[in-house]
Amino acid sequence: MSIRGLSIIGIGISQTDANASHAQSFRAFDPTQNRELEPVFYNATNDDVEKAALLAREAFAITKKLSGAQKARFLRAIADGLTGAKAELVEWSNRETALPIARLEGELVRTTSQLRLFADLVEEGSWVQARIDASDPTRTPLPKPDLRSMLRPIGPVVVFGASNFPLAFSVAGGDTAAALAAGCPTIVKAHAAHPATSEIVGQVIAQAARNCEMPAGIFSLLFDSGHEIGMALVKHPYVKAVGFTGSRRGGLALMQAAAARPEPIPVFAEMSSINPIFITSGALKERGSAIAKGLHGAVTQGVGQFCTNPGLVLLPKGEAGDEFLKEFADLMQSTPQGTMLTRGIRDAYAQGVKQRAKTASVTTHTHTEAAGNRAGAALFETSLAQLLGNPQLSEEVFGPSTLVARYGDVYDLVLVATSLEGQLTATLQITEAELPEYGDLLDILEEKAGRVLFNGFPTGVEVGHAMVHGGPFPATSDGQSTSVGTRAILRFVRPVCFQNFPEAALPSELQTLNPLGVHRLVEGR
Ligand code: NAP
Repeated sequence: MSIRGLSIIGIGISQTDANASHAQSFRAFDPTQNRELEPVFYNATNDDVEKAALLAREAFAITKKLSGAQKARFLRAIADGLTGAKAELVEWSNRETALPIARLEGELVRTTSQLRLFADLVEEGSWVQARIDASDPTRTPLPKPDLRSMLRPIGPVVVFGASNFPLAFSVAGGDTAAALAAGCPTIVKAHAAHPATSEIVGQVIAQAARNCEMPAGIFSLLFDSGHEIGMALVKHPYVKAVGFTGSRRGGLALMQAAAARPEPIPVFAEMSSINPIFITSGALKERGSAIAKGLHGAVTQGVGQFCTNPGLVLLPKGEAGDEFLKEFADLMQSTPQGTMLTRGIRDAYAQGVKQRAKTASVTTHTHTEAAGNRAGAALFETSLAQLLGNPQLSEEVFGPSTLVARYGDVYDLVLVATSLEGQLTATLQITEAELPEYGDLLDILEEKAGRVLFNGFPTGVEVGHAMVHGGPFPATSDGQSTSVGTRAILRFVRPVCFQNFPEAALPSELQTLNPLGVHRLVEGR
C-alpha cells in the first residue's frame, strides 16, 4: 500500500495534491531512532473539513437506514482488510510508536475482534432496545396512544485517535467501530504521532466501504499536526457527537468548544485517571510477594502508557507493609528504561516526575533521569495527610510512575476514596473474609469508578459486552458511558418514539410481527 500523506475525504475522493501543496506539512517521528520519517503528511485544510462534513451529512441519510446485516458486513470487511494489511500495519506502528511488535500484533487482533463483536451485535439487532406500549382507545378520560421507541443513530461523529493505542483506539478503534455500528458516518482526526499507520488503516476502511457499496461520506480521515482541524470539526454544525481519548487539557478544550456551539453536542472524552489500588493487611499476609510483582507489571508495562495504570497505592502501616514496599521498590528500581510514544509524552512525564520529587513531604524511592526518548520507572511515597491535603498528588503522571501512601485503618481508606476524583478503575487487593469490614470503602469506590476490581490489576481492558471503560469526571466527560465494549454504541444513538404510526412506516424492530426476532420490552415485559 503506498502512503501518500494525504487526507482521505470520503471513500471515493481524496484530498488533492494541489490542495495539499498549499497546506502545512509534518512528518512522522521514530522515537527509537530519534529521527523524522518519510513521507511528508499534509495538514487538511478548512476546505477539506467542509467537504468531509458535507459528505458525512449526505451519507447519514443512507447509513441511518442500513440494516444490521449490511453494517455487519462492512465492519467484518474492515476487520478482514486490517488482517490482510497486518505486516505493513505492525511494521509502521512499531516504527512510529516504539511499541513492541508482539504488543502491536496483539493490539491488531483486539482491533479486528472488536469490529467483529460490533458486527455480531448489530446483526443480532436487540441492542436497539425496542419498546412497545400498545394503544388503548377505550381508556378514560383520555385514550392511550400507541407508542413504540428504539435507539437511532445520532448523526456524523468525529473521532480523535489516541496516541497510546495506534490501532485499537485509533482510526478503526473502538470509537469508530461503535459509531459505524450505530449507523453514524465517521470522520477521524488522525493522531499526528502515527500518521502512516493511520493512513494504512484509513485506506483499508475506504476500500471496505467501496466493496460494501457504502455512501462516499461514511468515512473520512483528516491529518493535522496542530489543533485547528480538530477544533473546526468539533464546531462544524453537521457533526453531532465526538469521541476522544487523550489528555485532560485536550478533552476539556473539546468539551468547551462543543458546549459553546449554537447547538451543543456531546463529547465523550476519556481523559485522566490514577486507578487507585487499596491493599489490605490480610491480602499482604496471604500473597504480598505476588501482589508486589503484579503491581510492578501493572505500573511499568508498556512504559506505563496506559490509561488504566495504577498511579496511587494505599498500603497498610506496619512490618508487612514495610516488607512489601521494599520488594516493590527493588522491582521498580531494576526496571529497564523504555522508549515513550512521543517526545511530548516523554517531556510531560519528565516534568511530572520532577514536580513530584520536589513536592514537600514526598519521599523518592526510585527515579532515573530520562535519556533521549526513554524513561525509567519512578516510585514515590507520601503521608496520608499530605495526600489528602495536596490535590496535585492525586493527578495523573502519564508513564511508569506510582505513589504509595500508608494508612492505619479502614477509616483512612474511606477518607482517601471520598477525596478522589472520578476514576476509570479502583482495585481492592483483599481477602474474602475481610470484605464485610471494607463494605463502606467498596460503596464509595462504586461511586467513584467505572470498573471496580477484586484482587486483580487494572492495566489492560477486556473488550466484551459487560466491560465498562468509563467513569465520573475527569476519568471521562460523561460517566454514564463506556468507550470499550459493545455498550460504547450507546454514546452515538438517541431514543426516538413513534406515536400512532402505521405498521408499514415503522422500522422493522418496532413492527408488531417482529420480523427480525429481536428482544423487545412489550407492555413492560
Ligand atoms: P492529547 O495531547 O490530548 O492529544 C490527543 C488528540 O487530541 C490529538 O489528535 C491532538 O491533536 C488533539 N488535541 C489535543 N488538544 C487539543 C485541542 N486543544 N484542540 C484540538 N485538538 C486537540 O494527547 P496525547 O498527545 O496522546 O498525549 C498527551 C498526554 O495525554 C499524555 O502525556 C497523557 O497525559 C495524556 N494521555 C492520556 C491517555 C488516556 O488514556 N487517558 C492516553 C494518551 C495520552 P495534536 O496531535 O495535533 O496535538
